[in-house]
Amino acid sequence: MSERKVNFNPGPAALPLDVLKTVQSELLDYQGSGMSILESSHRAKEFEAVNDRAIELVREVLGLSADYHVLFMGGGASTQFALVPMNFVGEGQTAAYVDTGSFANKAMKEAQSITNVHVAFNGKEEKYRRMPAMDEIKYPADAAYLHICSNNTIEGTQFHTFPSTGSVPLVADMSSDIASRQLDYSQFSLIYAGAQKNLGPSGVTLVVIRDDFLATARKDVPTILSHKTHADNKSLYNTPPVFGIYIMKLVLEWIQSNGGLAGVERLNAAKKDLLYGAIDAAPDFYKGAAEKDARSWMNVTMRLPDEELEAKFVADAKKEGILGIKGHRSVGGIRFSIYNAVTLDDIQKTVDFMDKFRKSA
Ligand code: PMP
Repeated sequence: MSERKVNFNPGPAALPLDVLKTVQSELLDYQGSGMSILESSHRAKEFEAVNDRAIELVREVLGLSADYHVLFMGGGASTQFALVPMNFVGEGQTAAYVDTGSFANKAMKEAQSITNVHVAFNGKEEKYRRMPAMDEIKYPADAAYLHICSNNTIEGTQFHTFPSTGSVPLVADMSSDIASRQLDYSQFSLIYAGAQKNLGPSGVTLVVIRDDFLATARKDVPTILSHKTHADNKSLYNTPPVFGIYIMKLVLEWIQSNGGLAGVERLNAAKKDLLYGAIDAAPDFYKGAAEKDARSWMNVTMRLPDEELEAKFVADAKKEGILGIKGHRSVGGIRFSIYNAVTLDDIQKTVDFMDKFRKSA
């Protein structure tokens, strides 16, 4: 096998090697069933056990109480941009959106095409370089919910504290930082996350919904687009993304075996400290793209003195086996996506490369 690369892809992204090895070893004959989990029925006992355990593991890893429904849906996080307002904004109600980045903005735009939207914070004019202070987020007391994006994948900014919304339900797109740190996940009424960054492969989206919020869902939504349908049927109303759910279960087990979110957070803190440390140690050459107190632990964005050097940085890194670092096409620059499965060794190798590159430039 050729050597595995340092993989900073923003999603689909690096998966834990141990998980991939388990998938490989079980692929042709899943636990003595004589067939692959890819080939077994979603109603078979083998898959039902995987599904049940994956649901339990989401609750265990995130520390969620039994009144949270755990759903595995298709369509990516982008589908939730539409389904959340369709399901949770009642007749005559308004949903509030915090606009902190490209995906937060997409979620808001989708909601605007469906219902009334109140812009609770607009970060666009400042090019999304910072996050709002809690008292800058303003919304009506009777809003159907307040929507935030906890980590802005493209810009490299992240919420480090969350608004206390009282009786207004808090909804979060956590696609790019779910299960990366310890959090009071119970402050959220609904969380959704495409799996392809921290939880598994693309094709499955995790949705967790607290029961009291689900009880407010509209009843006039088509069956297949209703969260309640999927909650009532353990995501088995129709054929779910079976392979994604299976891999998510393995990734959650891997998180548990690494000390749960406390262990993952320790490692992620060490990784981001090492990488931001290298950026800040050479301020005339590497410049963090986001304001310091808004910096993401997951997507580290930076600029070099000019675009030509940035292109050379990407090309030279590739020669060293460091991949996936070209910034999103909408913002340019460099982005290291350092999700859970990226190792401290990967970061050390990168920091060594950055030092060498700067000295030779
Ligand atoms: N939200 C965030 C924060 C994201 O990073 C992404 C994808 N990069 C999306 C939503 C869209 O996810 P999907 O491609 O699964 O629809």
